[in-house]
Amino acid sequence: MKTNVSLAAPMATTYSYQLKCSTCEAVYDQRQLQTFCALCGQSPISVKFELGTSLPQHLIDFEERSMWRYAGVLPLKNKLNRVSLGEGWTPILQLDTLASRLGMHSLLLKDESLNPTGSFKARGLSMAVSKAKELGVEACIVPTAGNAGGALSAYCAKAGLQATVVMPSHTPEAFKKECLAFGAELILVEGLINDCAQKVAMLKKERPYFDVSTMKEPYRLEGKKTLGYELAEQLDWSLPDVILYPAGGGTGLIGIWKAFEEMKSMGWIKEFPTRMIAVQATNCQPLVATFSGLQSSSSNYQGKATIANGLAVPRPFAERMMLDVLAQSGGTALAVSEDEIIASVKEMAKAEGLLVAPEGAALLAALKRLLKNGQIEAHQKVMLLNTGSGYKYLDNFDF
Ligand SMILES: *Cc1c(COP(=O)(O)O)cnc(C)c1O
Ligand SMILES: [Zn+2]
Repeated sequence: MKTNVSLAAPMATTYSYQLKCSTCEAVYDQRQLQTFCALCGQSPISVKFELGTSLPQHLIDFEERSMWRYAGVLPLKNKLNRVSLGEGWTPILQLDTLASRLGMHSLLLKDESLNPTGSFKARGLSMAVSKAKELGVEACIVPTAGNAGGALSAYCAKAGLQATVVMPSHTPEAFKKECLAFGAELILVEGLINDCAQKVAMLKKERPYFDVSTMKEPYRLEGKKTLGYELAEQLDWSLPDVILYPAGGGTGLIGIWKAFEEMKSMGWIKEFPTRMIAVQATNCQPLVATFSGLQSSSSNYQGKATIANGLAVPRPFAERMMLDVLAQSGGTALAVSEDEIIASVKEMAKAEGLLVAPEGAALLAALKRLLKNGQIEAHQKVMLLNTGSGYKYLDNFDF
């Protein structure tokens, strides 16, 4: 006879936190919806946990095979408000064929294409929509280059909230149709995501929406930071030497670094010598331009559309925070062309059986350049972060 053994789960720790401006340290009320810091102008508000030392075993919910295994360091008060579609806990794959082609010992890829709605946006929006539910929000709005809109729509459908998505009209059809399938209101705008943001600003005057624009509220970043926790846990707390990240608004880049800092203050990792490398498309490379000193900031940068639509963010709100991560980690920023991106999508598909998003494929082109110019060495432990699935972009490809 089968006995039901109930293994009592150890009590998980949950840390308390404050909402603080990332620049001036002003503190904001966490019981109310917040946007960004108006006191010092245009700075994101961050969640600052009051972390004590703990063992991972005391904090991670090992039974939970989603990003919510790190709920102890996520700012949700009541588990009943959690809005989850199974996001996170994505695999790390070994790209053996590409590694040997490039003369590398190994090459890792964290495959975020397996997330709900096919991109890592699911992490941020699971967190932000959960928090919206907890704070009594009824309607959410987002300007998007594509994937954030689909993810917002799906999580709002699950939570029973209304979603409004404002997207460039040139975005491939799949990105539009999924929003409609999830019951969202879809508004198309000529231009790029910054033009969509202007439309959102107008709509907000007519109706009280929770605006979940990248880094203009504190919670998407918290969902994204689970990427950092997760890759550390999956690599047995031994971090890569280099992480290549396709940067748009920068939540993943900033979030991974935030996770590393939090894990260090809890004593889970010691130093983190990981170099963070931001990859953009030559059609829209504001961060590269600022990083290399061509402009003091991207506030007037003019970008063009790219096949890697998630990278078409001409004036990222949290540019300063991205530059800080690059500086602190000794990283760099570089851009690759449309032709290189398209060739990389095809190469990764044929060599590894992975139909990655053009954003993720851009990393392969960047890696080749960095190996050639000696900024990455063949023996180093390198991780590519494939942020999304290639399936939604198929309209734009001939194979
Ligand atoms: C949004 C997006 C990015 C860029 O992410 P940020 O957090 O804005 O830097 C990269 N790749 C894909 C597939 C995306 O959807
Ligand atoms: Zn401030």
